[in-house]
Amino acid sequence: MASTFNQLRLLLIFILPFFYFSSNAQEEQEIIFPDSLKVMTDLYALSADSMQGRQTNTKGSEMARQYILNELQAIGVPAYVPNYTQEFEFSIKGKEEELIKGVNILAYVEGFSNEETIVVSAHYDHVGMKDSTEIFNGADDNASGTATLLALSRYFTLNQPDNSLLFAFFDAEEMGLQGAKYFMQSVVADSSMIKLNINLDMVGRGDKNEIYAVGTYFHPELKPFVEEAAKDKSIKVLFGRDQPKKKPNWVESSDHAPFHKAGIPFIYFGVDDHADYHKPTDTADKINPDFYLETILMIKDVVQNCDANLRDINVAKSVGK
Ligand SMILES: [Zn+2]
Repeated sequence: MASTFNQLRLLLIFILPFFYFSSNAQEEQEIIFPDSLKVMTDLYALSADSMQGRQTNTKGSEMARQYILNELQAIGVPAYVPNYTQEFEFSIKGKEEELIKGVNILAYVEGFSNEETIVVSAHYDHVGMKDSTEIFNGADDNASGTATLLALSRYFTLNQPDNSLLFAFFDAEEMGLQGAKYFMQSVVADSSMIKLNINLDMVGRGDKNEIYAVGTYFHPELKPFVEEAAKDKSIKVLFGRDQPKKKPNWVESSDHAPFHKAGIPFIYFGVDDHADYHKPTDTADKINPDFYLETILMIKDVVQNCDANLRDINVAKSVGK
């Protein structure tokens, strides 16, 4: 017995450190963020000519969706709805007889305490093609936000947050925020659980090395979470563009608007309009990787700061306009 015990003890002495160090090494590998190669690969793939501008209800949109779904499955992030997809139909004003089909993609990381939910969103659609020859690649608008959302899904699947994170890849933003509007009306959006929306739309163009954080006018208690995340970064985060009667005003400009209307606090991250905005020249080579990767890191830190302090965020609903 004694010798078996000694053998076992020897075995443990030699084997345990191996397991300990190997698991540590694995953890260190997991927290490299963002994975620059992966992020840029996603950005280039989503804004490639083959995606034909990702207009809602087209072949290009379907290809973009398949790319995102493949990535989510590879990441292993749970689906929020069966097969991650939430289908919807809508029509455009003046063309009511024509029904257009859209598909939102919803992934979900359950939080440790699972008390509240933060919806982190980015639209994956863009404006398609003109005369079936000119492709609007939409690299900044909004392959940049979509690839960021994939990077965040990767990170938080491995690093469980305290509150739950719902990653919403919205469709049909370019047709009037249709995907986000549908999501907010749908039964899967439990607005009593959704405490915050962090929306990403055009986060890759560092022409001025600055990005706006919009929405803290309505909830100033969110501002320190952004400032804290920005202070050790090489990019500049500006506030504003959210004050009533002051122009430009971006409160209604993207998918955060339906959340705001429902009284849910939001932070919208986006760069200023640039010369290639909604032009065929919004291509991946114009993205500045240094700016883009630093922005993704800043946004991840904001998500973590908000997650850690969600209880302190004034739950009294803001007045949507
Ligand atoms: Zn956009």
